Amino acid sequence: FTYAFLVAVVVFSSIALILSLVRISNVFLPPKNKYGMVFDAGSSHTSLFIYQWESDKENNTGVVSQTLSCDVEGPGISSYANDPPKAGESLRKCLDEAMKIIPAERQSEVPAYLGATAGMRLLRQKNKLVADQVLNEVATTMQQYPVNFRGARIITGEEEGAYGWITVNYLLDSFIKYSPKQRDWIHPQSAKILGALDLGGASAQISFIPSGSITDATKASKFSLYGFSYTIYTHSYLCYGQNEAQKQVVQKLIKDTSAKNASHPCYPKGYETTISTASFHVSPCTAAHESFPPEVPWNVTLFGTGSATECLRLVRQIFNFSACGQGQTCGFNGIYQPPVNGQFFAFSAFYYTFSFLNLTSGQSLATVNNTIQEFCARNWTYLLSSYPKEKENWLRDYCGNANYILVLLLDAYKFNENNWKNIMFQMKAANTDIGWTLGYMLNLTNMIPAETMEQVKGHSQ
Ligand code: AMP
Repeated sequence: FTYAFLVAVVVFSSIALILSLVRISNVFLPPKNKYGMVFDAGSSHTSLFIYQWESDKENNTGVVSQTLSCDVEGPGISSYANDPPKAGESLRKCLDEAMKIIPAERQSEVPAYLGATAGMRLLRQKNKLVADQVLNEVATTMQQYPVNFRGARIITGEEEGAYGWITVNYLLDSFIKYSPKQRDWIHPQSAKILGALDLGGASAQISFIPSGSITDATKASKFSLYGFSYTIYTHSYLCYGQNEAQKQVVQKLIKDTSAKNASHPCYPKGYETTISTASFHVSPCTAAHESFPPEVPWNVTLFGTGSATECLRLVRQIFNFSACGQGQTCGFNGIYQPPVNGQFFAFSAFYYTFSFLNLTSGQSLATVNNTIQEFCARNWTYLLSSYPKEKENWLRDYCGNANYILVLLLDAYKFNENNWKNIMFQMKAANTDIGWTLGYMLNLTNMIPAETMEQVKGHSQ
């Protein structure tokens, strides 16, 4: 009996010792913070996003948060076509700032990406060699920092749309959610999956799960996320970002070579500017127009007349709403699009304009129309004195951009007054900017497992 008792005591105290050691190891080994960084090299500007998460949770959903966003000074990288090294230089300030935030001992393992979007797609169309030089320069700069550089490339429009959709739904926990009550991972109703509407300076993306099938396979993207398969419709309209669209609008105003003046209904009354038709040849979106031969450019003065109704009519002219395949539903310019379905987040430039006009709190379409009408009618001197801190070009363009957004959402994507309220104009979710960058990083670092969470838990513990 004594022997048995002694054995029991030894076994018991060994177990106690092991358990206390395990507890100690838990106490002394807190989960590591991991970091990742992605440059969004847009057509009009570049931003750097730094993300952070705890290493032991990296396959969970919604655990990645944004620790820093840094706006690169100056224009988008495609604007450095005449001096590519300056594109690389422009990134330094933000990279320096990032190095101050990420602990030195973590830096070498930080995956670092740069994704360029429509501005660079257009530059590549115009001059592939120069686009490659710009990409080489930004890559060279990034490689001079002690991070794990994983590439600088032009992402496709489809990637841009799909990663924006992943970002939105990841941040909102729409794919999978931990239920403390059920003590398990649950799959929220598929109705909770949101669509994504992204508007940049040079392209616009629409991504959502349609209610029926996607009849044009080239517009379908398939994902397997946390054990569920998703097929989304996604399309990116190059040249239909708001800046390229506004250039097309101006081109529509100037009809013949004798035109030296033109009234611009989307510019405020009292605003005046002179442009050269040579500017149409900078971008492939406006260069092909036969009425503006590059050899004989001329100057045209544009006078703002501030009329929302006329502006809306003019903006519609840059779209072709009739070219659609037989029996198909279309977006515009003959591009297949199934009917919009469910709720949507509208971010980036959709948000900037609507937030400026205080239209991001679920206002009805009637209120939106009235607000835009009123805003467009304000004259330029009044606007300048009312918004002294606003960049002049942005202030000038809000009327045109607001009308552009209306045409894009209503005439092009075919939202209507009934489903208008399904569009939420948002810039952030879970304190993180909404855009393609987070989805891109999650995908390239395999942080969204294809299999279910039970299996994932099995792997990681
Ligand atoms: P991208 O550079 O392609 O992402 O385009 C962003 C678009 O939003 C461009 O048309 C910019 O001019 C515009 N934009 C960016 N920031 C703001 C802001 N804070 N207010 C108004 N417009 C903005």
